[in-house]
Amino acid sequence: MKTTQLLFPTLREDPSDTEVISHKLLMRAGMIRKTAGGVYTYLPLGFRVLKKINQIVREEMDRAGGQEVGLPIVQPRELWDQSGRWQLYGDEMFRLKDRHQRDFCLGPTHEEVITALVDGEVHSYRDLPLLLYQIQDKFRDEIRPRFGLMRGREFIMKDLYSFDVDEDGLEISYRKMYFAYSAIFERLGLDFRVVEADSGAIGGSSSHEFMVLAGSGESVVVYCDQCHYAANVEKAETVFNPVEQPPECARAEVVLTPGIKSVKDVVDFLDVAEARIIKTLIYIADEEPFAVLIRGDRELNEVKLKNYLSASELFMAPEDMVKEITGVAIGSVGPVGLNIKVLADLEVQGMTDAVCGANRPESHLIHVLPGRDFTPDACVDLREATAGDPCPHCQGELQATRGIEVGHIFKLGTKYSKAMDAWFLDEDGIKRHYVMGCYGIGISRVMAAAIEQKHDENGIIWPMSIAPFQVIIVPVNRRDEEQMGFAEHLYEELQDAGVEVLLDDREERAGVKFKDADLIGIPLRVTIGPKSLKQGKVEIKKRWEAESEMIDQTSIKELILTLTGKK
Ligand code: ATP
Ligand code: MG
Repeated sequence: MKTTQLLFPTLREDPSDTEVISHKLLMRAGMIRKTAGGVYTYLPLGFRVLKKINQIVREEMDRAGGQEVGLPIVQPRELWDQSGRWQLYGDEMFRLKDRHQRDFCLGPTHEEVITALVDGEVHSYRDLPLLLYQIQDKFRDEIRPRFGLMRGREFIMKDLYSFDVDEDGLEISYRKMYFAYSAIFERLGLDFRVVEADSGAIGGSSSHEFMVLAGSGESVVVYCDQCHYAANVEKAETVFNPVEQPPECARAEVVLTPGIKSVKDVVDFLDVAEARIIKTLIYIADEEPFAVLIRGDRELNEVKLKNYLSASELFMAPEDMVKEITGVAIGSVGPVGLNIKVLADLEVQGMTDAVCGANRPESHLIHVLPGRDFTPDACVDLREATAGDPCPHCQGELQATRGIEVGHIFKLGTKYSKAMDAWFLDEDGIKRHYVMGCYGIGISRVMAAAIEQKHDENGIIWPMSIAPFQVIIVPVNRRDEEQMGFAEHLYEELQDAGVEVLLDDREERAGVKFKDADLIGIPLRVTIGPKSLKQGKVEIKKRWEAESEMIDQTSIKELILTLTGKK
């Protein structure tokens, strides 16, 4: 392709409404344009990247035994009523009516459609297992469609659904997908980690997320420095790790603490370490209030709390509600004498001389001993894991890093097949519900995540496997016949060898062409200038390296074939 024929409107400046680097660079490289909030148009270069990602994903899905299908975007309400999700999905679902006032939605996901399909077509255990997938636009009316392709309202997803006769079968399908996903992210050339993920209150079954590591990622991942343990911080288990506590505890005593509210205030005012303070947080779970206790130097993990309580709605009580429930302001609440259920994090029971709110205005209790002065209704793992924690599986220490969730695999079991009464006949002619799994990759999010991980101040650095073109040839002066002649010749030769090449034949200064080549992230740039040609050389610059090299004209083709993996 020649750049004079290519639509790639690059921008010199960051567009104003862009926050994350991938959004800025995708816009500046002329790869996407915003059509509406969270809704994007892909221009030719961007679309080429998407097609590359799709192709890698498709090949690995097919290799794992997946069969590609095309499911509808417009889905009737009846299917979602069967699963109970028409109500549950809430405002994230794009809903519409047809001319007869019948309800439809734009598919945010396809469990319902696929379960109905398989239920209609597959009746015997002999036809299982079945792995069906598609690559298609999904629609979710996200609350905050920020960050460009990272969180769109219309975005591209590969979703595969597995149907098995039993849990053992599901285990095999799940593993196939686990390995296929690992192969995909390897081939995409991205630094990633597979982590144990939260599978929600209904949980029990397992779930893994595939995270592309990037400092800008929304998720925090912890991993062991010695074993393979890695988990999303929402899920990461913590082990009881006692800090040194005083050996004895005097009788509890009320002290006046006027104006003291936060943990930091208490630390300063009473001169105690954060780890000796019990934070008391009031939460409302499905309308019932709970006091949640956690050591002062720790953070509560709301996902763990929500799962423990199997709550469908959970929120922290606002100031006025806390006052109504406990009779005092937030900073003075404590577990002693509190008449609502009290849940303590595991670490709280190891505290021996603690400070907490006294349930009296402007006062705290000191010398508090859990078990003597109060007894929690339950002691459970409720805190957020952090770097430095002991690994729950070995002697190692946890490290923390940030990541972007690009893939999610999930054992569904019979959740949907039961709800929709979808079944087959087993060997004994007995009706059984399919045992299902679902497996998603955010194709368009992968495109953004790759940029978050691989860029520099000049632009994108695409991995070779998903670059829109692998090579860009830049003749310094397009009017120079010798330069253009050489450029055209190399262009033809590389194309014939199956390399994807861009020839920058624009009448621009060399500096402009170099800037654009860097911005759009083409892995290899070959520059043809007057001086080098005379010496029988051309310049090759690898996008991921700082320095360029001079290469003999005669060996440039071979070198490129090697670097692009064509040889
Ligand atoms: P998130 O927690 O980021 O909202 P999710 O749990 O809703 O993700 P899934 O329903 O598991 O996501 O979807 C599978 C994959 O689709 C995710 O791993 C992610 O890569 C991608 N994805 C989900 N929502 C979006 C979105 N709004 N824009 C782009 N990609 C998305
Ligand atoms: Mg979501």
